[in-house]
Amino acid sequence: MANVLVVGGGGREHAIAKAMMASPQVSTVYCAPGNPGMIRDGIRTLAIDEMDFAGLVNFARANTVTLTFVGPEVPLAAGIVDYFQAAGLAIFGPNQAAAQLESSKVFAKAFMSRHHIPTADYRQFHELDSALAYSHEQAVPQVIKVDGLAAGKGVTVATSYEQAAAAIKTAFKTSSTVLIEDYVAGFEFSQMVLVGGEHYALLPTAQDHKRLQDHDRGPNTGGMGAYSPVPQITPAVIDQTIATIIEPTIAGLKADGLSFEGVIYVGGILTATGVQVIEYNLRLGDPETQILLPQLQSDFYQVIVDLLQHRQPHAQWQTTATYLGVVLAAPGYPGPTEAGVPVPTVAGADYASVAGTPDQLVSAGGRVMMVTASAPSLVAAQRAVYQQIDQLRVGDLVYRTDIGVKGMTASHD
Ligand code: AMP
Repeated sequence: MANVLVVGGGGREHAIAKAMMASPQVSTVYCAPGNPGMIRDGIRTLAIDEMDFAGLVNFARANTVTLTFVGPEVPLAAGIVDYFQAAGLAIFGPNQAAAQLESSKVFAKAFMSRHHIPTADYRQFHELDSALAYSHEQAVPQVIKVDGLAAGKGVTVATSYEQAAAAIKTAFKTSSTVLIEDYVAGFEFSQMVLVGGEHYALLPTAQDHKRLQDHDRGPNTGGMGAYSPVPQITPAVIDQTIATIIEPTIAGLKADGLSFEGVIYVGGILTATGVQVIEYNLRLGDPETQILLPQLQSDFYQVIVDLLQHRQPHAQWQTTATYLGVVLAAPGYPGPTEAGVPVPTVAGADYASVAGTPDQLVSAGGRVMMVTASAPSLVAAQRAVYQQIDQLRVGDLVYRTDIGVKGMTASHD
């Protein structure tokens, strides 16, 4: 029987750990650092920080961990995979060189242009004055991006020149490189794929909701809710995404000497002329993972082991239901939040920034939990989730009330 270590402590890692627990081959799932909301599901949380690579390797060795799965981007960008591999331990995730596809937007843009992968035109700047001058020559809206990891908060879609100038000035305060990108209008979706060298398993499509408030208002967040599959992303669009983005990305990584075993997440946008890449992530999405992994009918542990050994995995996904989840966050998110706000305990939820005991959880950060449901239609899944939330003591926690609405505009359910 196998022992699995999941690195990270959010809702995504809760969902990954539960999927590993469901494997008949797995006896124990550890999560470092995890959170107290996971404990009721039998997950063993560890007081080891996700950036303490030496501590994680020592734990994995001492506890015969056969597989480590990394959830978040920050340890990946810092080289956790290289560190484990040097210690001879099996780990699922990109090495530091490949992780630049997420951690550096400049690297990602150059990669896409080199491998002819469709994405918005852009320019990169190292000086404020030339960036401001270029901004004035371009149409609005235009998109200002900071080069580097920003937890989904380093992007401004500027609808006026004043807003663009302000965003450019702010961006240069945190980064020496700033990108100005053409605005792309279309329907956003996430397409994730588990890869092992040239082998891959496609996940169902999903749609995240990045803005804090209903009708996509308010600031960008890490993500406030998601549903899957997305009705607008038809089998023909998925085939196009595979042919023009997924397979060229895998081939491009190989050509550049960057093949790895891990996740490729395409933040896609469906436009009138086809699908374009908005961004790459090199890990599973949060909150999408919480509504994607419950759809897997195969043994998740075996799928990952197969990919690590460069064998084609058998990954079967459900096809009859829609899954939907709504994130609850502490008041103030995505700004500074209040700690110690009570968080309800409910079976089946995925927990994130919580402290306290499993029976008395309190907020310890921004996003605290996600409530999910599945039903034969998107409308029914949405109703089921909000009915669950209505029965909780949510107190001052904040959440969106329109998760899933965008998927209903073109579907007839
Ligand atoms: P990113 O962190 O690159 O995914 O950007 C965050 C959000 O900004 C995306 O989910 C989009 O809603 C928006 N965005 C980023 N780039 C563009 C673009 N070129 N055109 C339109 N919207 C964009």
